[in-house]
Amino acid sequence: MSNSIWQSFLHAQAGTIKFLAVPSIAFLIILPLYFAIKSLLNNGRISLSTVLGQAFPKYMYSGPQARTDAVNWVLNYVVISPLRVLAFLLIGTWITIDVGATLTGWFGPRPQVVHALWAIALFQYIGATLVASFFDYWVHRATHQVPWLWSFHRTHHSVEHLNFFALARVHPIEHFLFFGVAAIGFPLGSQIASYLCGVNASPVNVIVISLVAYARLISFDRLGHSHIPLSFGWLNLIIPGPAVHQIHHSAELRHRDTNFSQNLPFWDFVFGTYYMPKKGETWRCGLTEDELGENNPHQTMRQLYFEPFVHFWSQIRPARR
Ligand SMILES: [Zn+2]
Ligand SMILES: [Zn+2]
Repeated sequence: MSNSIWQSFLHAQAGTIKFLAVPSIAFLIILPLYFAIKSLLNNGRISLSTVLGQAFPKYMYSGPQARTDAVNWVLNYVVISPLRVLAFLLIGTWITIDVGATLTGWFGPRPQVVHALWAIALFQYIGATLVASFFDYWVHRATHQVPWLWSFHRTHHSVEHLNFFALARVHPIEHFLFFGVAAIGFPLGSQIASYLCGVNASPVNVIVISLVAYARLISFDRLGHSHIPLSFGWLNLIIPGPAVHQIHHSAELRHRDTNFSQNLPFWDFVFGTYYMPKKGETWRCGLTEDELGENNPHQTMRQLYFEPFVHFWSQIRPARR
């Protein structure tokens, strides 16, 4: 039994490494490409060293915090992500079977109203994205507004440079919280759409669509944790440019509780938390203006993993008289 669990973990790990390698490799290609095109448009020529220097500036990848982020990224990629994908497969299968039966039990069977495979897949994809991003919006908002949840979410906000490793700078407790949200939200939305189409979807169908919709989130999230100042105007509401999430990382409190969704900022617009930086507006990334540089509480791996528990205790312990 334990052998088969181990085998499942190894399979999930191999699959995850391939699945998550794509947006990571895309990050390594898109950033130099962005600065190469910019250089070509501005100067009419490209210098490889200048482009690489702009895409991966030395100051973003040196110093103790960058080392901590690099180690954390490897740990996250090799150990935590496969566990999350395994949970995705298990919860996704359970939701497909259970939600499908529940909806049919509540509202009765529906005649099939959508027949083309591409149209069914499209509706499932839209359903998965709408429901998962709605859950994600509210859970992310809660991590900002519920003090003990903020204890763990502040690990992500203590990052001072949006570089290749920044997306993974998340406390393990929060990793599982958000992954639980994704593992429920994507299959749930996909299965609701299947029911509305009158289609009896299989778990494999729902999980594949969920993973495709999840890949969209990871791709936007990946670029949202970069320093390329791209914004798509009002299109940001459904196709978020990196600028949408970048300002969410501002150390200035006036920017803090804005742009919770990097999947579908449409929800931020609906709930009044959407904010786009003004032209030329600048800010510094970090936790707060008093916790930058040497005052950053998460400079080492030990601080990154354990300080949130200390902060958590400070939030929940009974007040002294
Ligand atoms: Zn946040
Ligand atoms: Zn972020």
